[in-house]
Formats: sequence, C-alpha cells, structure tokens
Amino acid sequence: KEFDVNKMIETVTGNFELRVKSKNGNLITEINADDPMVKGDEVHITNVVFNLLDNAMKYSQEIPEIKVTTYNKKEFVVISVEDKGIGISKEHHAQIFDRFYRVPTGNIHNVKGFGLGLSYVKKIVDSHNGTIKVESAVNKGTKFSILFPQINK
Ligand code: ATP
Ligand code: MG
Repeated sequence: KEFDVNKMIETVTGNFELRVKSKNGNLITEINADDPMVKGDEVHITNVVFNLLDNAMKYSQEIPEIKVTTYNKKEFVVISVEDKGIGISKEHHAQIFDRFYRVPTGNIHNVKGFGLGLSYVKKIVDSHNGTIKVESAVNKGTKFSILFPQINK
C-alpha cells in the first residue's frame, strides 16, 4: 500500500487544529513535498504524527505554537513537527524513545503520560525503513523530523 503524505498531514492537522485553537494557540502547516508518496500504513503514520502533535501541545507553555512541514530531501519524504515549548536537554535525547521513559525534570505543569508515545513512534518509523531525528533546546523548543524513503527512488 502507498499513500500521499501531504494529504495525510492536511487531514491530521485539520483535526488537531481545534485542540490548539482551544488553547488560543497556533498550528501552521507547510506542505512543500513535491513527491509525497510513501509506502506503508497510513493509519499508523497518522498515529505517529498525532503523537508528535500531542507532545508538542503537552510540553509547551500555555499558548502552543506548532509548525508542521512536509518536504523532500534527497530520496526521502520528510515530515517535521516543531514546537516552541520547554525543550529536551541533550542528555535525554537518546532515552526519550525508550518505553516508559519520561524526562524527570522540567515537567513544568505536571503533564501526565506513560512515556509510551515516542516508543510507538520509533517502532512505526523503523518498520517503514524510516529515520527519526530530534533537535531541541531547553526553553526554546523541539523539532522532530521523520524521514521515509520515497517510492521508486
Ligand atoms: P504518553 O505519550 O505515553 O502519553 P509521554 O508524553 O510522557 O507519555 P512520550 O511521548 O514517549 O511519553 O515522550 C517521552 C518524554 O519525552 C516525555 O515525557 C517528555 O519528557 C519528553 N518529550 C517528548 N516530546 C517532547 C516535546 N515536544 N517537548 C519537550 N519534551 C518532550
Ligand atoms: Mg507523548
């Protein structure tokens, strides 16, 4: 099975926008992938993006500012989810994808969670031969990028 990442992102962000707006926040979507077809399970990838958006909301200050982008880079289709939230210090970057791991400090407003979202994300990305990257700065924000191989490349 294959699916169009651009269309999928339009749908997910369209559904998520209400949650962001209810906190007076902003969700910007930039669709820049010219070659958006990916092989895989659209339902699972939709859940992956939903998990990243959920985190972007949870680990932001009162007014969430979130940007979702699609683009092509070399032979990959990239989806990035960027927030201006509390950030994750470098020492934790390797562990956040582990099951049940939660950053012990900085959960400023006692957000709840099991530490499972990112382990699911990683599992699904891996099973699609994809890669996930995190760039983050404490108190500035976090950007997760997921790269999937383009079809026929
Ligand atoms: P769950 O997703 O199971 O409800 P969770 O959000 O705590 O719980 P993960 O989504 O796996 O678990 O994230 C693991 C940890 O990584 C979080 O507890 C948080 O400390 C940190 N984290 C994840 N995303 C962000 C983000 N966008 N900004 C800051 N910290 C983050
Ligand atoms: Mg989570």
